[in-house]
Amino acid sequence: MSDFEGGVSQSTPCNECHAGVMQPRQLTYFTWLGDELITVPHFPAWICDVCGKREYDEKAVLWLNMILDPNAGKPTRNKRSTPPLPRPRSGVPRSMHDSN
Ligand SMILES: [Zn+2]
Repeated sequence: MSDFEGGVSQSTPCNECHAGVMQPRQLTYFTWLGDELITVPHFPAWICDVCGKREYDEKAVLWLNMILDPNAGKPTRNKRSTPPLPRPRSGVPRSMHDSN
């Protein structure tokens, strides 16, 4: 782990073409939040310098999802679900029946 080849810059090989190297870039990230299109400019991403495959930064995506998640940070609301009450049986006494 001490002898690191490649120097300072971390080079991530492209797993698409296996020839290129993913270069750090900033893209505009598009995502849908419900019916709303969210655009995030200068979003950290990686682009292969050979095949052009683009990948958004995983951590940044997770971070963004956390922010955009409407449930994030909020206490989970107790959904009031009322269970269907068992219907009371019709308590008509059978003695009314006249069998003659
Ligand atoms: Zn590539």
